[in-house]
Amino acid sequence: MKIYDVTMKIHPEIQVYKNMESKKPIIETVADFDQNDYHETNITMNVHTGTHLDFELHMVKDGKTSSTLDVNKFIREVKVFDLTDVVEEITYEDLKDLDIQKNDFVFFKTQNSFEDTFNLKFVYIRKDAAKYLASLNISGVGVDGLGVERSQQGHPTHLALMEKDIDIIEGLRLKEVKEGLYMMYALALPILDVDACPMSVVLISND
Ligand SMILES: [Zn+2]
Repeated sequence: MKIYDVTMKIHPEIQVYKNMESKKPIIETVADFDQNDYHETNITMNVHTGTHLDFELHMVKDGKTSSTLDVNKFIREVKVFDLTDVVEEITYEDLKDLDIQKNDFVFFKTQNSFEDTFNLKFVYIRKDAAKYLASLNISGVGVDGLGVERSQQGHPTHLALMEKDIDIIEGLRLKEVKEGLYMMYALALPILDVDACPMSVVLISND
């Protein structure tokens, strides 16, 4: 048995979307041993920081929030596919011959997993690929970019997936993980009524 922690580590200089200063987490010591006999830290952080689970509210007004989180959906098998040869966009052509079935949870490993700084041209799921995944009625999809899409007017990839209640995990780190079948433990921090929750994700293989 081998355990892979595929969660992005959170720190003040973690990569954030479009390198926006306002999206960087602020981690401050609010009590230390100079003044107290204990140590405490405050953190101010966008819920889309690092590895996280998106909810419908992120893209749809009055959409479903994190209060609908069901932990049972995230402790299960996941198929990891190696798409490290893909440049910029995951398309229908890239996916059509892969063994993706109804109710599968799939992770796509791309070049994103090898970059620790934000790349404006990160690999994303193009809308035709998202529509294909939606048509297959998969359960969820995980990507190693900070977004499941970019540069598409109206967010068609998010919407195609969300319309079918397909869960979207973003910001995975899959560098050490080979293509194959794993047991996934993806536990979201249960913050109520927001548009995303930070997640800790671990994969376990049998070898
Ligand atoms: Zn997000």
